[in-house]
Amino acid sequence: TVVLGIESSCDETGVGLVRDGELLGHAIASSMDEHARFGGVVPEIAARAHVHAIGPVIGEALTRAGLTLSDVGAVAVTSGPGLAGALQVGVAGAKSLAYALGVPLYGVHHLAGHVAADTLAHGPLPDPCVVLIVSGGHTSLLLVRDLVRDPIVHLGDTLDDAAGECFDKVARVFGLPYPGGPVIDRVARDGDPASVAFPRPLTGPRDDPYAFSFSGLKTAAARWAERHRGAGTELPVADGAAALQEAVADVLTRKAVAACAAHGVGTLVVVGGVAANSRVRSLAEERCRAAGIELRVPPLDLCTDNGAMIAAVGDLLVRAGAAPAPLDLSIDPSAPLEYAALQPLPVVA
Ligand code: ATP
Ligand code: MG
Ligand code: FE
Repeated sequence: TVVLGIESSCDETGVGLVRDGELLGHAIASSMDEHARFGGVVPEIAARAHVHAIGPVIGEALTRAGLTLSDVGAVAVTSGPGLAGALQVGVAGAKSLAYALGVPLYGVHHLAGHVAADTLAHGPLPDPCVVLIVSGGHTSLLLVRDLVRDPIVHLGDTLDDAAGECFDKVARVFGLPYPGGPVIDRVARDGDPASVAFPRPLTGPRDDPYAFSFSGLKTAAARWAERHRGAGTELPVADGAAALQEAVADVLTRKAVAACAAHGVGTLVVVGGVAANSRVRSLAEERCRAAGIELRVPPLDLCTDNGAMIAAVGDLLVRAGAAPAPLDLSIDPSAPLEYAALQPLPVVA
């Protein structure tokens, strides 16, 4: 079965085609540039951009895969979490397509999509594995058994900001363009990570070993910038970016590796937009190698939002014999990550 996946939870319109764990092709349109002058995603603009993009992006993904609509055997769509208006566009499109083609529809959790993205590059996930999800809105350490059959266990989550949010907000304070994460990564190449001693939040002996906090780090970076500006000296942005990136990468990878060790798990999977960060990737590699843990990180284009990852979850659901969603499937903008599918999941054995 060829599964067509649609992603529209934020500012990327993504469509992917997957069959039996194999990525056949995908396409993405982004409204990022339209949000730049506002310094963040404007929900109304994002929703409108999805309306314009969804048809052409479906066409482009099919072309890249060398397929036509008549080859599609199931449709999967992100039904939450995300921006309500943005999610509505993808879900409405997916329902229309499923109805018109007479094929089953599946509502997928966006974060399960981020996790499944790795399977397209590296094959099925081992059971169990520890997953570090680091994105614009989430930072969590998960214990994953069977992604579509078993409940997802949260070992720890962020208590305040997500890691990507920290990058984006600090970039703004540093006067760097939006979106901040990739820019911090680029600017940091010319900086000294040891130039500023930013804090490592929640890494003390009495702290929750798997919880995260990034709002204090964001404040520390803002204070550092204020001190420089107050003193009238030019802000050494590259040093600040490198030091911030080092602090975030240090905390993320330290806790992820500790979670693997504590649970006797041999594989760590790092996913989400911040998994594209070069220092997060290199430090995770270094520490996993030292601890004898297998590290899996998706290629860059599958780390940030895309439709292929949603098709990947749909493909797993189809192959698990999961019941499809009803055609009145509703969106859930704040869906907690409990199951990969966002509808009751009676799996047919
Ligand atoms: P969520 O998945 O939590 O709903 P989202 O879909 O907006 O949020 P993603 O698309 O997974 O998030 O990731 C976007 C985030 O990743 C942004 O915060 C962005 O700054 C960050 N990001 C992307 N590339 C990099 C990079 N190279 N270094 C650091 N951060 C990055
Ligand atoms: Mg985005
Ligand atoms: Fe995302």
